[in-house]
Amino acid sequence: MAMNQVQFQRGVCMPEFFERYGTEDQCATAMVAMRWPGGFLCPRCSSGAHYVVGHGQRKLFQCRDCRHQTSLTAGSMMDSTKLPLRTWFLAIFLISQAKTGLSALALKRQIGTSYRTAWLLHQKVMATMARRDSELPLTGLVQMDDAYLGGERPGVVGRGSPNKVPIVAAVSTDDAGHPMRVKLGCLTGFTCEAITAWARVNLTPGCDVRSDGLACFSGVIDAGCAHSYIVVGKRKPRELPQFRWVNTVLGNLKTMINGAHKSFKFGKYASQYLGAFAYRFNQRFNLNALLDNLLNHAATAPPTRERQIRAMAEVHD
Ligand SMILES: [Zn+2]
Repeated sequence: MAMNQVQFQRGVCMPEFFERYGTEDQCATAMVAMRWPGGFLCPRCSSGAHYVVGHGQRKLFQCRDCRHQTSLTAGSMMDSTKLPLRTWFLAIFLISQAKTGLSALALKRQIGTSYRTAWLLHQKVMATMARRDSELPLTGLVQMDDAYLGGERPGVVGRGSPNKVPIVAAVSTDDAGHPMRVKLGCLTGFTCEAITAWARVNLTPGCDVRSDGLACFSGVIDAGCAHSYIVVGKRKPRELPQFRWVNTVLGNLKTMINGAHKSFKFGKYASQYLGAFAYRFNQRFNLNALLDNLLNHAATAPPTRERQIRAMAEVHD
C-alpha cells in the first residue's frame, strides 16, 4: 500500500466510537467478549459455571464451583480501577487516533479526570502498546540509524548534545524498499554492547542491517545479524535512499515530541513513548482495526502498576 493510501484510510470516527462504546453496558459487554471469547472461565479453578451479580462496570462473576468472585477488570490493564469503563475506552480511542501523539494534559481535558489520573492512564496504555509491539522483532532487510531526542533546554544539536536521550531507530523494508515495521529504543549510550543487547530483543537473527557506519552498529553482529554500512561523508543520511525510511520515521518522531509533548520529560518515560509510537506505526495499514486491537490488548494485558511505571522512569533519571 502506498503512503497516501495509508493516510487516507478510513479509521473509526468519533460518532461511530460513541455509537459502539458510548455507554457503560456497551463497554462491559465488549470487555466480556474480549476477556473470555469462549465464555467466562473462573481464573482460580477454570470452571465455566458462574452467576453474574451487578451490572455495567460493577458486574461481578461468581464461580459456582469455588465461589471465587472476579470483576471485569481484575487482572487486566485496568485492574483495580475506580474509573468507569467508558472513560478507559474513550482514552484508548483518543490515544489510538492521535497520530502525532497526545499529551496527558490534552487527555485530561478530553476525558474529564484529574491530571494525575489522565497521566497514569496514558502511561498504562502506552506501556501496553510498547509491551505488545515488543513481542514482534523485525525480520529481513533493516535500515538502522541513531539520534538524540528530547531535552528541555536548547543545546548542541546532534550526537553529543546534553539533556538528550540516545535512541536507535530501525525500519524493516520489503525487497522493493517499502517500509514494513519499525522499532525504536533508548540506549544507555552508543556502544557495541548496548546495540547488541537491543538487537537481541528487537531483531530476528539473520536480519541484514544497513547503517551509516557509526562504530556501535557492528554490535548487531553479536546478535546474529549481518551488518553493512554506507559511508555518509558530508551528505545527510536522509539524502540517501538506503536511509529514506528510517529518517522519515525519525522526522515524524521529532514532530511528535516537539508538538504534543513540548515541555514533558521525554528522557524519563522515553521507552513508553517510543514503544507506543512504534505500535501505532506498525498498525498503520489497518486503522479500522487499530481501535479494536488496542482495546483487546488492554483487556488482555497484565496490570501495569504505577510503581512499575515510576520505576521504569528511574532507570533514565
Ligand atoms: Zn472457580
